[in-house]
Amino acid sequence: MTCPACDHYVTIEDWNDDEPFNCPNCNTLLKLVTDEGGYRGASEKSLEIQEED
Ligand SMILES: [Zn+2]
Repeated sequence: MTCPACDHYVTIEDWNDDEPFNCPNCNTLLKLVTDEGGYRGASEKSLEIQEED
């Protein structure tokens, strides 16, 4: 999985953890999101930049 902000590789330790975390390279706050819109039974995971309030 690559960071959408800096394109550096980010290791996902827990694919079920949707708590935002900071990219170790660029420190951007990221969140692992699940896209349920794919095939039946399949879900795509992606990293999104989490905007801070
Ligand atoms: Zn990054």
